[in-house]
Amino acid sequence: MYIRKQRLLTPGPTPLYPPALHAMMASDIHHRTEDFRKAYRSCLADLKEVLATANDVLLFASSGTGAMDATVSNLFSKGDKVIVCSAGKFGERWAEIAQAYGLDATVLSAPYGKVVAPAEVERALAKEPAIKGVFVQASETSTGAAHDVRAMGRAVAATDAIFVVDAITGLGTMPLDIDGWGLDVLIGGSQKAFMVPPGLAFLSISPKAWKFAGTATLPHYYFNLKKEKKSGDGGESSWTPATSLVLALAESLRYIKQLGMPKLIENAQILAQATRAAAVRLGLELFAPDAPAASATAVKAPEGMDSGVIVKEFRNRFGAIIANGQGSMKGQIFRIAHLGYFDFADLFAVIAGLEIILNANGFPVNYGAGVAAVEEVYESVAIRQPVAV
Ligand SMILES: *Cc1c(COP(=O)(O)O)cnc(C)c1O
Repeated sequence: MYIRKQRLLTPGPTPLYPPALHAMMASDIHHRTEDFRKAYRSCLADLKEVLATANDVLLFASSGTGAMDATVSNLFSKGDKVIVCSAGKFGERWAEIAQAYGLDATVLSAPYGKVVAPAEVERALAKEPAIKGVFVQASETSTGAAHDVRAMGRAVAATDAIFVVDAITGLGTMPLDIDGWGLDVLIGGSQKAFMVPPGLAFLSISPKAWKFAGTATLPHYYFNLKKEKKSGDGGESSWTPATSLVLALAESLRYIKQLGMPKLIENAQILAQATRAAAVRLGLELFAPDAPAASATAVKAPEGMDSGVIVKEFRNRFGAIIANGQGSMKGQIFRIAHLGYFDFADLFAVIAGLEIILNANGFPVNYGAGVAAVEEVYESVAIRQPVAV
């Protein structure tokens, strides 16, 4: 027999930063005390710092979708015309939320693996001057593709609409100049590049978007941006916060500040580059080769092999949890994550495991071929870089 260590290698939840995990054990603390206010204030201030924005930042006890829901219910009114850019399951989620709240959404959709071009957004905005908002994913985690939110932001900034960016896996994996690119609302979540368990969502909101909060009429209660802003200014949350997660996030933010957000992004990008190189070297096809995201790399299973077999084999042989495709992509692709607390040792192991699994399931590859591709990227890009402590 052999030991299998459990390893969580999905694009959310992601591997946890150990000091953040340890910080959670101090959560027998009351949230209306100065001790906790200190942690809460530090989270809000550090989030603002790592997001590098002058906009307000608000924190919620919910998964990422809560902040998506909050954005729609607080900033829009029934019947508002909006544009949804949809390139995968999370784009479809924007469309579903817009529909649930009775917005009049024009959906610009790209086939899975492709992205919506900024020119399409520009055209749609020109055609309908009454558009109030444009929704997109910076990184579409379900397909491993990334949108050009910089160019889209430029198009939206020239109109009266606000630009709402789900950056839940974009943060920490791609540059996002919130203030410079006009990303009016930018949404993040704890269980992606922030290295803590699921349960916290946050968003930044621009002055342009705050004006929408003054006129929007959709009903909302738990998610109340104005109330949350007031509470946050006092170092508290409106309702009982997820205290253990706030303590964890405060710790991981300290780590991210110490690394520097650009370095965290670079780490994801180098690992993504090495993963793509390994997949191609093994004769596999990338699912989103045109605009690959650094959050996760989606790889097509070999012809005739269900990707679920690869996912199951990783779990059974190596205790590693990797992601299958979602929706109709299930069985077609598998996804290797790089966001947050991932390193080269993780990737060496994943690619070596993949070689064994492919060989064991009727897709012969040369042992070491994929790993060599990762080693070559390490040698050419990373070997001379300072190592993060
Ligand atoms: C993970 C994720 C979300 C949020 O999903 P939750 O399950 O609500 O946390 C939203 N968008 C993207 C792109 C994601 O990767």
